[in-house]
Amino acid sequence: MRKIPLHWQVIVAILLGVLFSFLAIQFNFREFCLLYIAPFGDIFINILKLIAVPLVLFSIIAGVASLGNVKKLGNLGIKTLATYLFTTMTAVFVGLLVVNIWKPGKDINPQLRLEKRIEYELWQKKNNVKKLDTICLSCDQNNLHIVQKIQNKKLYPNKSDFVQDKIDKAKQNKTKSPLQPIVDLVPKNLVLALLEMKMLQIIFFAIFMGLVLVTIAKEKAKPVIELIEGLNEVFVQMVNIIMVSMPFFVFALMVGTLTQSASSLGDLTEQLYFLTNYSGAVIIGLLFMAFVFYPIFISFFKRKINARKFLKGISKAQLTAFSTSSSVATLPITMDCVQNKLGVSQNTTSFVIPIGATVNMDGTSLYQAVAVVALAQFHMIDLGLSQQLTIVLTATLASIGAAAVPSAGLVLMIVVLESVGLNPIWIAIILPVDRILDMCRTVVNVTGDAAVSLIMDKQKVD
Ligand code: ASP
Repeated sequence: MRKIPLHWQVIVAILLGVLFSFLAIQFNFREFCLLYIAPFGDIFINILKLIAVPLVLFSIIAGVASLGNVKKLGNLGIKTLATYLFTTMTAVFVGLLVVNIWKPGKDINPQLRLEKRIEYELWQKKNNVKKLDTICLSCDQNNLHIVQKIQNKKLYPNKSDFVQDKIDKAKQNKTKSPLQPIVDLVPKNLVLALLEMKMLQIIFFAIFMGLVLVTIAKEKAKPVIELIEGLNEVFVQMVNIIMVSMPFFVFALMVGTLTQSASSLGDLTEQLYFLTNYSGAVIIGLLFMAFVFYPIFISFFKRKINARKFLKGISKAQLTAFSTSSSVATLPITMDCVQNKLGVSQNTTSFVIPIGATVNMDGTSLYQAVAVVALAQFHMIDLGLSQQLTIVLTATLASIGAAAVPSAGLVLMIVVLESVGLNPIWIAIILPVDRILDMCRTVVNVTGDAAVSLIMDKQKVD
């Protein structure tokens, strides 16, 4: 019998997971799923994360050391970062374009939008926010009854603790120096960086060590490089072994995620229409990036790889990204696909992909742009050109700063909302659909990394 390709097995596993979750909710065996199936999904994520850290460490050290000279690395590094910046900013523009054309927040009951706007006015007044020049509806006598109604109402009761916690965290970050991200890049303790999975710090150390290996005497460097290359092989082989059982783990992951979030889905029924529209706008933008932008971008540099070949080559990484919602957890699979399916050299893969998984999040930046504008529309606020340009800047930076783990993009969106004077508590409104959008944006995040690695492979100097 012909073996069914792994990506089809994974697709079937995802669909079975959705069906099984539906049955579990319908026939009341959710608890069984959460107790006995969901843990296998956690095991899958744990294994992938377990491999990701040593893989990044060893593959970058080996990759940098094999480049053989510091100048080559500098060239590749600058080109890689510039290309990542370009794709991320393009994604934000695509997001802004879609949300301004679709207007997911405008096609809502005007009374509800008016109430939302007044809520915003009250918040703005209380917090003395001056970034937006808005008409103060709350001063209008005709709206007084609505104002009173809103003042008596507790905002988003169920999610308040969660959101407040995120706001406090974002505020802590805001008071730091603008150079803090550079300071944070340098680990003060390697073990701590590895323990806490601080990917940028690990990358910094790995590049540093790779460079040092190039500068010391060859006979001293050789055994160290060989050992690191050997260790790298070990972790790559672990990925190959795990991939065989991937369909089972993906099924468990889907059942766990869906049965957990289903009970809270009913919370915001009045906003369901908005959520559907908003999700549609995010998904259209993401589809455009994955199926139009990247293929065109690649064909511009690499004529031999067409869209079909590219998408087929990274399908396994995309499916893993979809089921784990984490670029870091997907990292081992992305590296495997890029190298073995798309034929990118090991040097380029081991340098470009780990950096991309941490700093290049096109899906996340696109989603943040759509979410902020849609939320403003929902609250009857029109953002002008300067505010939208601020979003381009902050969404780009926020996506670079977001950790490659589930929901990181949502947390960092607080910074984007605040940058244009909007209320950060609004992340609570989009919370119910965030997990599914997180799955979709993570797919685009890893697709973007793969596309850039292909382009950089052509640019490499060796
Ligand atoms: N989950 C995304 C990733 O890992 C980040 C985010 O947008 O939340 O790439």
